[in-house]
Amino acid sequence: MVSLSLPSGFTFSQSSLQDYSDCPRRFQLRYMEQLRWPAVETEPVLENERRQREGQLFHLMVQQHLIGLPSEKLTSLAKSPDLSRWWENYLNARELKDLKDLRSIHTELILTTPVGTFRLLAKYDLIAIKPGDRTFIYDWKTYRKRPRDEWTAARMQTRVYRALLVQAGAALNGGISFPPEQIEMIYWYADYPSELARFPYNTNQYKRDWDALNGLISEISNHRHFPLTEEEKKCAYCPYRSYCNRGGKAGALDDMADEEDQALAHETALTGSEFNFEQIAEIEF
Ligand code: SF4
Repeated sequence: MVSLSLPSGFTFSQSSLQDYSDCPRRFQLRYMEQLRWPAVETEPVLENERRQREGQLFHLMVQQHLIGLPSEKLTSLAKSPDLSRWWENYLNARELKDLKDLRSIHTELILTTPVGTFRLLAKYDLIAIKPGDRTFIYDWKTYRKRPRDEWTAARMQTRVYRALLVQAGAALNGGISFPPEQIEMIYWYADYPSELARFPYNTNQYKRDWDALNGLISEISNHRHFPLTEEEKKCAYCPYRSYCNRGGKAGALDDMADEEDQALAHETALTGSEFNFEQIAEIEF
């Protein structure tokens, strides 16, 4: 008999909150029942997994570069056409040239804070600070297609990352919380290097986001019924299709005309594998 309650101290992330928002049943299967996804040996899935592995290596290369490893030493890691193109785009991106000159940068940083009896956590690709002036959250994306900014603005990642930096980032700012107006989240798309998506922040947005996140976590923790999504197109790229009788064959990435569908497919498969909570250093408030 499966228990349908969250363990006390469960750690929420943008991924689990996005899963719940996309499909409550996916949240149940992935985080409450902790089901591993069935191995689906179809070509689109393998292609998607390959791209994700390369995306993870790209993140590591950028992180190593930002903490001081010379680009020449890292370039030899870019063995595939995708990686090599992303790396070249990164090294040549005029929009990223000033990053290393910022006085304070933090790569692959975890922030976490309690929310009721639970926790909320985010892992940041890069936080770059101009003390007393601006604080930038950078996130690297290796999507095939660049999603619309309106879509990205509404994603849990955009809302969680900015709100959590205000809520839990004081240690990065001399013990004082960052004013929301100083914060900006920037997505850099490795295949669209000059088309950054920028999301400034303000106090009203922060209050709205923080209230909404608290409300969502409270709603999930009180839920006992996790229905299947009514938007069946979301099932096409969900690894739990066979559990829900929503088809056994993965959707083909190339068949997804819509930029956001491709981005969703990428994120949905990645979710759940991105954090190892036991092995990461945390800054906690
Ligand atoms: S297959 Fe569809 S209904 Fe089932 S968990 Fe995935 S998105 Fe939800």
